[in-house]
Amino acid sequence: MFRKILLAVDGSDHSEIAADYAAGMAKAFGATVFLVHAYPHTSDLLGYEDFEKLVARRKAAGQAILNKVRKRLAPKDMTILEDLLEGPEAEAILAAAEAQQVDLVVMGTRGLGAIEGMVFGSVSRKVAHHARCPVMLTR
Ligand code: ATP
Ligand code: MG
Repeated sequence: MFRKILLAVDGSDHSEIAADYAAGMAKAFGATVFLVHAYPHTSDLLGYEDFEKLVARRKAAGQAILNKVRKRLAPKDMTILEDLLEGPEAEAILAAAEAQQVDLVVMGTRGLGAIEGMVFGSVSRKVAHHARCPVMLTR
């Protein structure tokens, strides 16, 4: 039923839990995991003298988030593809889901922001609203 599962991570404990669910689903269905993180769009850095350096730093921080989750999933012995995306987050995740034709998106209900009182984060809400495939919001 699920051949390719997009796992979206933001470095939060919530997305670590999502990673475990994605791994469980991938194992159960023999699916490939497509691991993605979207770093913030770099347009706000335009005009800074050290633009290139700031962009590189942003990408490195994003890559570190991917690496951490990849390490967590390594012992689970499954095929993992990954992509470092440029934000805005929800749009980037939705575009990647379309481009890779995934059958399932797995992500946390909340993330790094976690302002109390909100059930959904803005990224999970938008992705769940617009995705064309099932979305699993973990908690
Ligand atoms: P908000 O960001 O609106 O303050 P929040 O941080 O609590 O709220 P979301 O950002 O919606 O909630 O995070 C929910 C889930 O979405 C995360 O657990 C993660 O799986 C995914 N996610 C959030 N940000 C990103 C990102 N930049 N790249 C990839 N996935 C992300
Ligand atoms: Mg967030």
